[in-house]
Amino acid sequence: MKCSICEEEIDETELYTGDEATYYEGKPVCETCYYEDEPVATVYLNRDDYPHIISYTRNETEGAFRAKWHSTDPWRGYYETESDKYALVNTAELLAWHESEKMLKAFDETIRELFDKQSIDYARVFARSSNVFYQNYDLYVNKDQSLLARLLVVKAKSEVDYGNPKWYRNIVFDDEALTKIAELFPEKNIQTDHDAVELIQELGDNTLIELQKRMKEKQGASTD
Ligand SMILES: [Zn+2]
Repeated sequence: MKCSICEEEIDETELYTGDEATYYEGKPVCETCYYEDEPVATVYLNRDDYPHIISYTRNETEGAFRAKWHSTDPWRGYYETESDKYALVNTAELLAWHESEKMLKAFDETIRELFDKQSIDYARVFARSSNVFYQNYDLYVNKDQSLLARLLVVKAKSEVDYGNPKWYRNIVFDDEALTKIAELFPEKNIQTDHDAVELIQELGDNTLIELQKRMKEKQGASTD
């Protein structure tokens, strides 16, 4: 029998099959490919320090969580996680070296304390993206406890100032560029990188034309 990944002939004793809820589910793979396939997501249950990994061949959560590639364009994307057993109550983008890292760490500590106090069964799932500096942090709770959990998420967020637009800047645009876009499109109330990216997506091919038009108008107004 041949390995579904490296296509080498597999020895009887080294025959593995991809775990349930993985890309290679039920398909024959060799021992090396089975163990060395790189994890795409890591799951931590409650206070447990032991990481349960999900790769294309292994799923140490016994199928409680799955990870699917979500492409944003032909070169970029990230792994999206899902679960039948748990409900997603928050998702955050973890950006290495970014200012928001500290705030998200505080959020993580606060929410876990609140969950522990209310005996909420939760899972933290960290999923990779094509960008080495960026991963998703998805917070899940037992489905039966999701209402209370969602209220606690709101509480934790207000404690760490989670909604402050300052955390969502300097990701795509620097402050100067963002201020300029906000000035040129006052009706869009642009405060974060996300707002600006959304505007550009909305304008599509007309982005440059619209931008140049508004810059000209602005120049004209200031020299009048
Ligand atoms: Zn192989």
